[in-house]
Amino acid sequence: MHRGKCPYPWVTCYLTYRQIRRYDANSTDAKGFAMGKLDGRVVLVTGAARGQGEQEARLFREEGAEVVVADVLDEQGEALAEEIGALYVHLDVGREDDWQRAVQTAVEEYGYIDGLVNNAGILRFNTLLDTPLAEFMQVLQVNQVGCFLGMKTVGPVLSDGGTIVNTASYTGVTGMAGVGAYAASKHAVLGLTRVAALELAPRGIRVNAMCPGAVDTAMSNPAVLDPSADGEEASRGLDRFYRKLVPLGRIGRPQEVAALALFLTSADSSYITGQPFVIDGGWLAGVSVI
Ligand code: NAD
Repeated sequence: MHRGKCPYPWVTCYLTYRQIRRYDANSTDAKGFAMGKLDGRVVLVTGAARGQGEQEARLFREEGAEVVVADVLDEQGEALAEEIGALYVHLDVGREDDWQRAVQTAVEEYGYIDGLVNNAGILRFNTLLDTPLAEFMQVLQVNQVGCFLGMKTVGPVLSDGGTIVNTASYTGVTGMAGVGAYAASKHAVLGLTRVAALELAPRGIRVNAMCPGAVDTAMSNPAVLDPSADGEEASRGLDRFYRKLVPLGRIGRPQEVAALALFLTSADSSYITGQPFVIDGGWLAGVSVI
């Protein structure tokens, strides 16, 4: 979308792809070239093949970043990367060797990394007393160890002044029956976030966490994965369900979480680090008895 006329049309043939993209974005620099909030940034997003990670990858590209789409869903991840002009890497976040390969590939491609969004996650439903140890460990391996390995592997190469955004959850700040392993892992993500913020602050690296309530992705709405199901009807059903629970009266959308991830990754949040950001339509505010 063009917001103004290029003041130097005769130089168009000399413009790089990035400069042309800047011209297409919202704000402009002193010469009238448009600038994205993440121009010049290189951000790796885990679990980016679908859901919130996909929306983060899309939004970050729109805002000028080079994006590394990382996931275990290779077909979907590759298709997304191809569509938005990103790099796809296979990355099981629970595996240290995968992390090392992914980071090496990203640095070889772009020269540096200055942003990480630890988004990949899994959810399992079980009461604590019924949770098999293997299931508990599986959830921790992805949600908690994955976040730890991401910071441990990317941290040493992350440019000074870079950003890390960890995806915790509403269940990282309160309890929820039936998701004990998940809640434990997300509480841990907040602990890791605070410690990393303290340890990386001397390099100007900011580390924050997002705590989404219910968000309309495959995790909360498996119907979106079933080609024969009506995903939109399922979303409307979830809105009806959350109308009773959430003050804003609906389930959240992955694009809304992506907007928060953008805020925490961009200079708009330049004096914020070590904090959990709840994005839940007011769910955590309390209960209403009227
Ligand atoms: P989703 O299931 O649509 O996406 C999760 C993504 O993570 C998928 O692309 C999946 O392939 C990927 N993934 C899973 N295991 C992985 C692994 N070992 N290595 C790499 N990638 C892996 O769900 P979503 O809602 O987009 O979830 C994104 C994050 O948001 C997760 O951390 C989740 O716990 C968190 N979250 C979700 C909700 C919600 O209601 N949807 C609420 C709070 C927090």
